[in-house]
Amino acid sequence: MAKCTYCRCQISDGSAIEVCDNCGTRVWGPKMFRAIKSNMEEARSRGDLEQGSV
Ligand SMILES: [Zn+2]
Repeated sequence: MAKCTYCRCQISDGSAIEVCDNCGTRVWGPKMFRAIKSNMEEARSRGDLEQGSV
């Protein structure tokens, strides 16, 4: 189970970033946090595709 880097609360398994919504918004601001999350999810989905082809 993933944990938030900042507050150690549990994060849902589907999350691409190890920071909860509360901390992410506090640290980066809502707009920046959304951008970071979407970048991470994009990178992860590419990684998953590469792993699937091995
Ligand atoms: Zn947190």
